[in-house]
Amino acid sequence: MNRIGMSPSELDAIVVSHHHGDHGGGAGIASRRWDIPIHCNFTTASHLGLDPTGNVELFESLQRIELGEDMSLLPVPVPHSGAENVAFIASSGGQRAAVITDLGSSTEELANHLRGCTHISIESNYDIKRLWKGPYAESLKQRISANGGHLSNDQTGRLLADVVTEKTKSLVLTHLSQENNLPHLAESTVLYHIEEVFQGDIAISLQDGPEFTHWVGQSQLETGMLV
Ligand SMILES: [Zn+2]
Ligand SMILES: [Zn+2]
Repeated sequence: MNRIGMSPSELDAIVVSHHHGDHGGGAGIASRRWDIPIHCNFTTASHLGLDPTGNVELFESLQRIELGEDMSLLPVPVPHSGAENVAFIASSGGQRAAVITDLGSSTEELANHLRGCTHISIESNYDIKRLWKGPYAESLKQRISANGGHLSNDQTGRLLADVVTEKTKSLVLTHLSQENNLPHLAESTVLYHIEEVFQGDIAISLQDGPEFTHWVGQSQLETGMLV
C-alpha cells in the first residue's frame, strides 16, 4: 500500500478468500487496528477465530457483496482442500475483474464467470516438472498437484484459453511458488496456450509488491525474487 501511496485507514473493506495464513492471517488485527469491516464466509471466519459480534460481514457463495455506490464483488466457490475458498469477480462501471488464487482445478461455474472479464488476476503456482523433481516430500507434491491443491502453469494456461476473449485486456499471474516455479516459465507456458486469442497485457506479480514485470528473456534476474 505504501508503494501506491495509500494508508490502511483509507480502506473501506477487507475481503478474505479463505483462512490460510498467506491470505487471511493478518485480517483480524488489521480490522481492529484501523476499524475496517472484514467480509468472508462462515467457515473462513470460524477458522480465523473472528468474533461473530465484531466487525465481520458474512457472505454466501454467489451472493453479491455491495461495496460503495458502484462496486460489487461476487464470491465464486473454488476447490481448495481444507478451506472454503472463493474467487472474487469485481464489477464496476460496467466492467468486471477477477481475482482467483489457491484452487486445484477449475469449475464450469468459474469459467462462466471469467468469460468477458476485462482483467483476470490468477495463480500460476508451479511448473509440473520442477514440482516433481524438486525437494518437497511426496505427500506434499501430491497435495499441491491434486484437485484441491494449486494450479500449475499448464492448468492456468488451459483455463485461460477457455475463458479469454477479445474483451480481456490484462492478465496478472500470481502466487508463484519459490521452489517450484520461475516467472519466465509461468509467463511462457500461459502465453503458449492463449497467444492466438489474447492481445492484451500480461504481467507477473511477486511477493515483494506489484512488480508487474514481463519476464520472458530475463531469467538471469529471477533468482531469489519469488514467493
Ligand atoms: Zn490456500
Ligand atoms: Zn495461498
